[in-house]
Amino acid sequence: MSQNTLVQQQTIVAHDEHDERHQGAVTKPIYQNSLFTFNSYTTFLASMKEEINASVYSRGTNPTVSELEMRLAKLEGGDRARCFASGMAAISSAVLSAVNTGGHIVCVDEAYGPAVQFMGTYLQKFDIETTFVNGTSLKEIEGAIRDNTKLIYLESPSSMFFSLQDISAIAALAKSRGITTIVDNTWATPCYQSPLALGIDLVVHSLTKYVSGHSDSIGGVIVGRAELMNPLIKNEYLLLGGIMTPATANLIMRGLRTLPLRMEKFQSQGLTVAGWLEKHPLVKKVNHPLLPSHPQHELAATQMRGGGSLFSFETEVTVETMRKWAERLNYFRIGVSWGGYESLVVVNPISDYKPEREGTLVRLFIGLEDTNELIADLQSSFEAIIEQSMYPMID
Ligand SMILES: *Cc1c(COP(=O)(O)O)cnc(C)c1O
Repeated sequence: MSQNTLVQQQTIVAHDEHDERHQGAVTKPIYQNSLFTFNSYTTFLASMKEEINASVYSRGTNPTVSELEMRLAKLEGGDRARCFASGMAAISSAVLSAVNTGGHIVCVDEAYGPAVQFMGTYLQKFDIETTFVNGTSLKEIEGAIRDNTKLIYLESPSSMFFSLQDISAIAALAKSRGITTIVDNTWATPCYQSPLALGIDLVVHSLTKYVSGHSDSIGGVIVGRAELMNPLIKNEYLLLGGIMTPATANLIMRGLRTLPLRMEKFQSQGLTVAGWLEKHPLVKKVNHPLLPSHPQHELAATQMRGGGSLFSFETEVTVETMRKWAERLNYFRIGVSWGGYESLVVVNPISDYKPEREGTLVRLFIGLEDTNELIADLQSSFEAIIEQSMYPMID
């Protein structure tokens, strides 16, 4: 399967063929319609039969949404992509397509919170059990596999601690046991990581983040081989109905046009700020897979071609003080999500995610502002808490 370079990817997202149906309009008009009508029963019935490919009704196949799907499939190196109303709609549909009643899931314990809740709690009502594992340990993953394991769910890098899973090794292991694999590829984007080429069955994304890129839309996608995607489209996509609207697809397509360009910039912005933070005396550890200090830096270099600008750091300064530090920041706004143009910060106790550990986890999203100004902003907020001796250490 293909692993396009950033330059080739830029062509995939930038080039449209001339389309005479639209008078050569440089962007295609939005198909803002719920249904498609026919003047022949033969085509109507044929289209109904082929609803996963033909436009009949916009809960099925809408050309504006299909356009985005076609590009995402190309970027990920998959046969088919389907867009959903949100990343979670894509994740829950992908998971449901892979499991059945009484089945078992192995999931990395650092996966996106609502995904963990969906597999670990919600699916219990269908007698589906999930074992959460430390994704850095192939042994632990292998040990968790049971006779009824149907799915191994990965998120590499994870989006709070940024630890990796060895994608090809896990894919090979799963294949040998007939287990489906899913990777959440939101952080690296198709620009920097190609899980399908590493042997993974289905890739999911929250398009809300980097792909959309402008903090103005919510969406998700599943990409994979036709043999897995076709039944998924007939079932989880059409029956659960968590579709992406044409208006949203158009917005996300606009974001996608510049994804490779933006990712290159995000990567350098993120590394500049992460590298600076690493030297700060109040920072104990920076979690960013592209820093040489990351314990899985070598694995990162083998399975990723680059990365994003969302990372975290750990400090012994209390959560309360770091929240004051965050409030003092000028450029970093307090908020969840990420992937837009604006820098963001969230501060939480590490024990929220890892009950056995103490300390404070600060997650930063580095936006597109001047990194000199971002660093000066972080520095002046650190100085303020130091001056006011507002940093009682956790012992
Ligand atoms: C945001 C996010 C999701 C969920 O996406 P939504 O579009 O918010 O539903 C899934 N995985 C990761 C890694 C995310 O950051």
